[in-house]
Amino acid sequence: MVAGYQVNHQLLKRAVEIYNWLDLQVLNNSELAGKCDACGKCCDFESFDHRLFVTPPELMYLAAKLGTENVKPMPTSRCPYNIGGKCTIYEYRFAGCRIFCCKADADFQSRLSESALEKFKSICTEFQVPYCYSDLATALNRFVG
Ligand code: SF4
Ligand code: SF4
Repeated sequence: MVAGYQVNHQLLKRAVEIYNWLDLQVLNNSELAGKCDACGKCCDFESFDHRLFVTPPELMYLAAKLGTENVKPMPTSRCPYNIGGKCTIYEYRFAGCRIFCCKADADFQSRLSESALEKFKSICTEFQVPYCYSDLATALNRFVG
């Protein structure tokens, strides 16, 4: 586990607020956000030609919810939490998972991503967590390693 990932409940609360805000944006803009059929195909990033980037507060939140010892590495191009095509951490999934939909309006999606990123950056500044924006495999493998 990398340094700087001690549980900070205030930080986790702020991460939940961002997720709740994101979910509300998606709910309130359903036409732009697109309807996901939960097929799970985009969770295999290589085959879907998709990328998912995450920030430290998102990993900290996941680790706090699952238990640090249950954070999985990512040895293939498929997210390790996608099992049998289903997301097994749906409630704790990353911001990019909440925002991305293959049927979404690209501009809407991009604006939402930028806003979410700014919010996660400000959490890092406030709680003095080194900020980085890594692809999921790098982030998970670094966290576990
Ligand atoms: S966290 Fe869930 S929704 Fe996000 S990539 Fe992994 S399996 Fe897919
Ligand atoms: S966003 Fe699209 S590809 Fe991804 S799970 Fe939903 S329907 Fe499937």
